[in-house]
Amino acid sequence: MGDPDAIVIGAGPNGLVAANLLAEAGWDALVLEAQDSVGGAVRSARDVHPDYVHDTFSSFHPLAVASPAIQALGLERFGLEWTHAPAVVGTPFQDGGWALLHRDRLDTAAALSVDAPEDGDAWLRLCARWDEIGPQLVSGLLSPFPPVRSGLSALGRLPDAGGAGLVRDLLAPARSLARRWFTGRFGPALIAGNAAHADIPLHQPGSGLFGLLLAMLGQEVGFPAPRGGAGMLTEALARRLSSYGGRVRTGTRAWEVLVADGRAVGVRTSSGEVIRARRAVLADVPASALYGGLLPWSRLPARLRLGMRRFRWDPGTVKVDWALSGPVPWASMPARLPGTVHIGGTVPEVQATYAQIGAHAVPDRPFLLLGQMAATDPTRAPEGAESVWAYAHVPQRVRFDAGDSGIRGVWDESDRERMADRIQALVEERAPGFASRVVARRVLGPRELEARDENLVGGAINGGTARLRQQLFLRPTPGLGGAQTPVKGLYLASASAHPGGGVHGACGANAAHAALTHPHPH
Ligand SMILES: Cc1cc2nc3c(=O)[nH]c(=O)nc-3n(C[C@H](O)[C@H](O)[C@H](O)COP(=O)(O)OP(=O)(O)OC[C@H]3O[C@@H](n4cnc5c(N)ncnc54)[C@H](O)[C@@H]3O)c2cc1C
Repeated sequence: MGDPDAIVIGAGPNGLVAANLLAEAGWDALVLEAQDSVGGAVRSARDVHPDYVHDTFSSFHPLAVASPAIQALGLERFGLEWTHAPAVVGTPFQDGGWALLHRDRLDTAAALSVDAPEDGDAWLRLCARWDEIGPQLVSGLLSPFPPVRSGLSALGRLPDAGGAGLVRDLLAPARSLARRWFTGRFGPALIAGNAAHADIPLHQPGSGLFGLLLAMLGQEVGFPAPRGGAGMLTEALARRLSSYGGRVRTGTRAWEVLVADGRAVGVRTSSGEVIRARRAVLADVPASALYGGLLPWSRLPARLRLGMRRFRWDPGTVKVDWALSGPVPWASMPARLPGTVHIGGTVPEVQATYAQIGAHAVPDRPFLLLGQMAATDPTRAPEGAESVWAYAHVPQRVRFDAGDSGIRGVWDESDRERMADRIQALVEERAPGFASRVVARRVLGPRELEARDENLVGGAINGGTARLRQQLFLRPTPGLGGAQTPVKGLYLASASAHPGGGVHGACGANAAHAALTHPHPH
């Protein structure tokens, strides 16, 4: 085999989407992956219990379904099949009520009316307002090229499309948006719980847009999961890549990007092997691992180093996986089981979690994202059993434990188990008898997550904070937004670039389009 046209470092969804687009355009694309299997943070295994499939990281993929880049690949032809839970997402309340999002807006409205009769109508009016611009905004943000311009032009059309009210709603913090629209508890919980998938505090601008975007997307496309496990998505990407002649080398870690005459010309691996690339190198690694890591600062302009000092990670994560002998015994069963559950997902609860994280405290009652995977895809567990996960965010640097179990934030086994007990106790509050159904439990702290995927620095799941200061052309750093780097033929293809975390492949697609538009043969 001769030198490839392009080397893609990292076989996460972004790296694999990038390699697919390059291979489809006729380039010889070689993907180097440090781990022994492809997929990055989209993998699954039977490693918690042999009878159960657990997603090691991400599970629900509305962004993949909404993403023009992934949709255009036709992954269904390569073995991908989407499955849906009976309801999209829900928040259980102490009194047995559930705030539920459904795929039909009339069903969602009816569910909200149970708590406050006028909130059903309010929901339908909010949906109508979203219809004016939301779908274009989503596809603009996820569109491969040109990323910034199309996202912004959708924003620029806002006043024409929906008037000042719409602009006010989209720019409002989630807390104010929820207050303005709803009188009951369920509507605000849908906004707050979905906003809490990003790390933007609910009183800050950007949180409302994020909560609204994810809720509306969930209603439009559901929160689907790949049948058989999250890894089926990235395996389909790898199969498609090889059908176009692309290659993947697992167990091969890139150590250095080689540069000659200001141009990326190849990669040195950690075993010292030099692999040359004829046209481009695309890096599905965090911005902080590329700048000052794979590329030494001496090869980079000083202003980039200054800019990267402002780069901020999103919080760390502790994730617990359980194999259960039966379904989650919710205190009151919802009419239809949601695949994703927000525990502690009311506005004040989410606010408290992010305030504690902001104060570098381990939250005493963290907001939990929980997935009931067999309810979504029965192949994940033996009949009648359930494969469950829940995760909570923790500060990147811990100063103290806001709870009473003395978690130090070093995330050794003792810290991890105590945090897992805290998470499990919160689930037990809503689902009494949960513990008695546990057949196996596994805890992944920040270090275990990072060991399985080095992009998850300190357990950060989104390649950097989603706050507005690090969005659009400010991502990863002002003056260097998007896939471009100061080195010709080198592109940043990971979630550290616009449009950020999530399984949509748009960062990889942007990098591939940039490489194809400016090939630098040498
Ligand atoms: C616990 C968890 C839950 C999540 N849940 C969801 C969810 O439900 N829905 C959703 O949309 N998103 C979710 N996410 C976020 C989503 O998974 C990520 O944003 C997405 O995977 C980012 O894709 P990526 O290709 O940029 O990076 P990654 O998926 O992290 O892949 C990067 C790859 O590059 C490899 N690599 C890094 N450095 C090198 C090197 N030097 N040499 C060779 N290989 C290297 C890594 O080993 C890894 O395989 C979740 C993330 C986590 C961690």
